Amino acid sequence: MNNVFVICEVDEGKIADVSLELMTKGRSLANQLKCKLEALVLGHNLKGIEKELYPYGADVVHIGDDERLDPYTTLPHTSVIVDLFKKEEPQIALLGASTFGRDLGPRVSSALQSGLTADCTSLEIGPHEDKKAGKTYEDLLYQIRPAFGGNIVATIINPDCRPQMATVREGVMKKEIYDATYKGKVSKIEVDKILKPEDLVVNVIERHMEKSKVNIKNSSIIVSGGYGVGSKENFNMLYELAEVLGAEVGASRAAVDAGYAEHERQIGQTGVTVRPKLYIACGISGQIQHTAGMEESSMIIAINNDPNAPINKIADYAITGDVGEVVPKLIKFYKQNTK
Ligand code: FAD
Repeated sequence: MNNVFVICEVDEGKIADVSLELMTKGRSLANQLKCKLEALVLGHNLKGIEKELYPYGADVVHIGDDERLDPYTTLPHTSVIVDLFKKEEPQIALLGASTFGRDLGPRVSSALQSGLTADCTSLEIGPHEDKKAGKTYEDLLYQIRPAFGGNIVATIINPDCRPQMATVREGVMKKEIYDATYKGKVSKIEVDKILKPEDLVVNVIERHMEKSKVNIKNSSIIVSGGYGVGSKENFNMLYELAEVLGAEVGASRAAVDAGYAEHERQIGQTGVTVRPKLYIACGISGQIQHTAGMEESSMIIAINNDPNAPINKIADYAITGDVGEVVPKLIKFYKQNTK
């Protein structure tokens, strides 16, 4: 009882990366709290899915396998999860801030009146003292996220309602195998006994999935451009540098807003979170909303004509100069050296 739960998302028969990232986080929270980590998977044809979750430290994998749960629709998923949570009373429930999690999380939390913190950037366990009420809490979930337009980093707690629910965007937490030989157990959910006709009023007739050609998240090198690049045409030199390096092109929000790059390339708080081996920031000032999405890159090279640009504080190498001059030189140099 009172364990840590991760509501997992299934993507074409595989557990979504964001769910595995949360399993990794959930395992470390459960270790701190000295409780179990439980995963919850709903869908159809899920035979053997638990094997994907055990290596991430799942003690129990709850599986609801029913054709009415695939494809995902809000109502049946909500009913099954609410029913399970009423019985299991988790202390923490985590899910990805994906389209799935953004739709499902609020439904579940409002049915349980638990509250939910969306888009957390960090999750920790800690105490809290409510002096007014004269109460002390030992192990609360600190749900940490930027607030007020990113001007503060807020730590949100939920002392009284359970579960403490939070969503986290893909890439924010690290996915790491806990123990390749870890073995938990399966708990089958009797979906038939839970679903009611009113849960099944939505019938998905057809699905159309648009696959993005941009793959920033999995790229080990990213050449990223900001407003300082100056124009959409100037971004072409970033594509050229990226091609030479086998990299992907990213962008700041200011560059996206100015129409220099597509939104799916945006890196930062309201874009993608990345951890490449090399991040080359071209004409990017380094505001917190941007750095939140790339500061864990193994190496950062900043190219900026302002020697005092904030990005230089987190850069391993800072090149002070005009992107229009520096980037062509890099292309020339790398081309020469890869011949
Ligand atoms: P600027 O801040 O305009 O910086 C341009 C930089 O280029 C400057 O440092 C300048 O010195 C340099 N420069 C200019 N000309 C040249 C040149 N010729 N050669 C070299 N350097 C040059 N931003 C994000 O990026 N991602 C997000 O996800 C994001 N989410 C946000 C969410 C919220 C709620 C809010 C309020 C803001 C968010 N922002 C986000 C916006 C963020 O606050 C900044 O406005 C944005 O990151 C700035 O982009 P930039 O660095 O490209 O532009």
